Amino acid sequence: MIVKPKGTVDIKDNDALIMEYVNSVINNMMYSYNYEFIRTPVFESSELFHRSVGESSDIVRKETYDFLDKGDRKVTLRPEGTAGVVRSYIENKEYALPDVKKYFYNETMYRYERPQSGRLREFTQFGVEVLGSNDPIVDAEVISLQYRILESLHIGDLQVNINTLGDNESRINYRNALVKYLEPHIDELCDDCKERFKINPLRIIDCKVDAESDVIKNIPSVLDYLNEESKKRFETVCHYLDLLEVDYEINSKIVRGLDYYDHTVFEIVSLQNNDSKASVLGAGGRYNKLLKELDGPDENNGGFGIGWACGMDRIISFLKTMDIYQNIKREIDVYVMYVSEEEKLNALSIVQNLRLNGVTTECDNMNKGLKGQFKVADRLGAKYLVILNNEDLAKGLVNVKDNATKEEEKVDISELVEYLIGNL
Ligand code: ATP
Ligand code: MG
Repeated sequence: MIVKPKGTVDIKDNDALIMEYVNSVINNMMYSYNYEFIRTPVFESSELFHRSVGESSDIVRKETYDFLDKGDRKVTLRPEGTAGVVRSYIENKEYALPDVKKYFYNETMYRYERPQSGRLREFTQFGVEVLGSNDPIVDAEVISLQYRILESLHIGDLQVNINTLGDNESRINYRNALVKYLEPHIDELCDDCKERFKINPLRIIDCKVDAESDVIKNIPSVLDYLNEESKKRFETVCHYLDLLEVDYEINSKIVRGLDYYDHTVFEIVSLQNNDSKASVLGAGGRYNKLLKELDGPDENNGGFGIGWACGMDRIISFLKTMDIYQNIKREIDVYVMYVSEEEKLNALSIVQNLRLNGVTTECDNMNKGLKGQFKVADRLGAKYLVILNNEDLAKGLVNVKDNATKEEEKVDISELVEYLIGNL
């Protein structure tokens, strides 16, 4: 028997219904906020991720699915969404457009991780990227957008953990302070952190292994190294979030994944969840420098970007623990019943007509007798049964039964759609 690869899941049954619901909430909200849908390739040249996600990230260091294609090109399955969207924005010179670009995506990502709860090798992320504006209003908008989506899913006790890495000058100041502080303690840190110290010491701050050590607990705070401009910018973002009534907490230990993050970084957690590893539902930040890194414009020429991503699979696991999602069901409107071949021919066109008029309709596909069909209709939660028999059909009529009250009525076939729509 062939089984699914390690770290993958089949999304079906209740999970699929929850996913469909989540997708509908996402789509509606993205539409209200005026974001446009984008789909980028599932594989890209490997170089894209090395240059964007960065050599010091866990993703590039050990999690990418890399391979040579038959033309000896080095390609990588996308491990995250930002790189592809930014690549497309630059490739199509969209930075030359007069307007900001607001994209959203919802697609599978691939990371060679050790599979465990909340951690898969193929998983789905939905996210946004806003390109071409550095106004703090955009930072506040994207954060509140993620917050409102999670809230609309009825996830309780949401909290935004927010931080800033400041501009280039602030970041360099902080990096120097960090190196000075960490140098004497480097032997006390995990092997990954020893590596990180050489390539991107900021990364040590959110190390999961050393999180509880005194070295990390007493690490200098980035907020003490911001220049005036960066401090002011951060205050403005926070002020806008206040106005948008987003519940946030300033947490100087949030630094997040990408090597090119600057200014705002954040993650959203639900305090309702005890599993701290799986409680980060989404995260993101500003990445102005990335634009230039990928051969786009620098900050003096409109090279600005900010985005976030949410883990769909984590959200589904989270929602599954909530009562309201346990019995989520898809019910049909109408079940059309028939027995003879002639009734079947009539059923075919009646079913199609109802479906094309937006009425969710099913009929027997397995040659069951009437008794069996009644059972199927009940399992599908049909609200109405349309029962065909040759005698009535000859007069252009069908029997319509309200499956809740069990009341029956004969209805003219030409008025059936109208009748059902009026009663549903
Ligand atoms: P973590 O610190 O948990 O490894 P990350 O920094 O790798 O997270 P991001 O790259 O910021 O995560 O991804 C955003 C979101 O995508 C995460 O908050 C999480 O919900 C989800 N996610 C990340 N990796 C996985 C995975 N392997 N399986 C399922 N969901 C994931
Ligand atoms: Mg990770």
